[in-house]
Amino acid sequence: MKAVAVIPKTTNSVHLVEMDKPKVADIKNGRGVLVEILRVGACGTDREINNAEYGVAPDGYDFLVLGHENLGRVVEVGENVREVAVGDFVVSTVRRPGKSFYDSIGEQDFTTDDEYFERGISRLHGYMAEFYVENADWVIKIPPAIAEIAILLEPLSIIEKGLKQAYDIQERLKVWRPISAAVFGTGTVGLLTAMALRVRGFEVHTFGRNAKPYFNAELLEEIGCTYDSTVDLTPMDSVKKYGEYDLIFECTGYSPIVFDAMQCLNQNGVLILSSVTGGERKTEIPSDKINQMFVLGNRVMVGTVNAGREHFKMGVSDLALSEAMFKGWLSKMLTHKIEGLENYEKVFDILNNASTYNAIKVYFEVNKI
Ligand code: BGC
Repeated sequence: MKAVAVIPKTTNSVHLVEMDKPKVADIKNGRGVLVEILRVGACGTDREINNAEYGVAPDGYDFLVLGHENLGRVVEVGENVREVAVGDFVVSTVRRPGKSFYDSIGEQDFTTDDEYFERGISRLHGYMAEFYVENADWVIKIPPAIAEIAILLEPLSIIEKGLKQAYDIQERLKVWRPISAAVFGTGTVGLLTAMALRVRGFEVHTFGRNAKPYFNAELLEEIGCTYDSTVDLTPMDSVKKYGEYDLIFECTGYSPIVFDAMQCLNQNGVLILSSVTGGERKTEIPSDKINQMFVLGNRVMVGTVNAGREHFKMGVSDLALSEAMFKGWLSKMLTHKIEGLENYEKVFDILNNASTYNAIKVYFEVNKI
């Protein structure tokens, strides 16, 4: 079968490889699920891996098959699989257990290992292929009614984990009734975060670099969010306009904004950080002020990465709720569908020039839904 791979640590090495089709029996204990890939998304992480900034090949290989945003259809299951059946739509999680205690209790998205195992990213081949086989433990069933938008589930799962942590942390308050939220960053993750907050009833203020007219701003306004360009309205000035935020989700990829966000948080508020910033940027901050705000105001900042089964399941519910509340809205995020894995150059061209293409989600269609 065909797959799209890179040579990790080699710039722009994306290419096609030919591999053996996996078999249900590759997974022990009759728990194998063989999946035909329908769609695979491409995101900033894939771009960074192809730019040689990130990514590790599996043991015994010099290449890594890319792809972690996935949607497929079950074609065969092992004798001990009862959760999914042939014909079901499925999305699989990304990280697999390593060695730490958290991994051993199924919480590998909280691993304390330095080396981790993520399909399409680190030490495991990904989903930019024609088939994959996986243990049923990591396979999530998708209702057919949301199959069309389910390629958004993996990026949404990261947000769900962030929100779950915020709500878990706020158990400290006994009662938390947040009203307003800010989302910094309006790419795929920012848009999905805004949606997840709107379906929870938040008043949502979003911020990006682009001035209007901007398609993403129109999408955000359509579901009742405000949009401001940080060029016209700094995060700190936005507080004068909208008040302090009970929850802030940072997903810009630009680390200095984190310290602005810290100063925009309401008392008892939670700031969630989700950008993986691999650079060496430095910035000057009013440290006494920020520290005092956090101490006197019981504020919290938490990082979030990856996602477990429960977060994917929360994502399935939010995709369905979004369809009920904002019918057709999520499909507008699927801006660039590229048919066939052999057209990987086109996918990476769009990924590398997303603003020129006005791209939100670019993805391969490997087989029709
Ligand atoms: C993926 C996560 C992963 C993270 C770090 C993200 O793009 O969605 O599953 O944990 O990259 O590798």
